[in-house]
Amino acid sequence: MRFRRDAQLDTSQVSDRRSAGPLVAGGGGLIGVIFLVIQLLGGGGGGTGPSPIGPLGQGSEDLSKECVTGDDANQRDDCRIVGVVNSVQAYWEDNLPGYERATTVFYKGQTQTQCGVGTSDVGPFYCPTDQTIYIDLGFYDDLRTRFGAKGGPFAEAYVIGHEYGHHIENLTGVLEKGRSNATGPQSAGVRVELQADCLAGMWAKGAVDTGFIEELTEQDIQDGLDAASAIGDDRIQEKVQGQVNPESFTHGSSEQRQRWFLTGYRSTQISSCDTFAAPTV
Ligand SMILES: [Zn+2]
Repeated sequence: MRFRRDAQLDTSQVSDRRSAGPLVAGGGGLIGVIFLVIQLLGGGGGGTGPSPIGPLGQGSEDLSKECVTGDDANQRDDCRIVGVVNSVQAYWEDNLPGYERATTVFYKGQTQTQCGVGTSDVGPFYCPTDQTIYIDLGFYDDLRTRFGAKGGPFAEAYVIGHEYGHHIENLTGVLEKGRSNATGPQSAGVRVELQADCLAGMWAKGAVDTGFIEELTEQDIQDGLDAASAIGDDRIQEKVQGQVNPESFTHGSSEQRQRWFLTGYRSTQISSCDTFAAPTV
């Protein structure tokens, strides 16, 4: 994934809270790309003090000064995520009538949201109440080290595309349908998650046309599929419990997540992502 060097990044779409102080824990009602798995995977953070996250962690800097062009997006991890957010929103502005922008918040450890205090234990998430996406960029290290994904820029971009998928679902009323505690591979909750994967795939297909991204290679798409697979419920359960229990699926299996991403990637129609219309997903 390479950004056009002269693309102008819009940092007003991202709010950087990485240098903010810690909060008291709590939280609920968050819709993420995974479900509390970091805790299940053991030893996971605890959400207290900030952890060093290498080149992503320069929270004291001003993003608007650091992330100006696509050249910056090609060189800095946080600027790249700004560029991805810009591309995803440009895509939906062109492809969903009435699209309303949603801000992405970078934070470290924990942060206040209208869905309660969000902690990095739950991974990146979307809060429908304040229509905001929250991500501790340290999740991308977890994606590789704890979930065993190969990583790569497009693996990271897929996660953002998925969260914006939830925002689309909120705008179209689909998110409401998933409000149930039922689990399982055909449950409403899983259908909401798979639709978000499908919408991420739609953006991937149209990403180059947004003007921000110059090139997405076959390898990039493979990296995205690899990430989708790594955070499939069956892969995570196998890792955590040593066995797979489909009845407790919340996000879909690796196969389901890859398949729905590809469904969106191969189609330009949002109707192809209607997981609630499909007899089985
Ligand atoms: Zn999700």
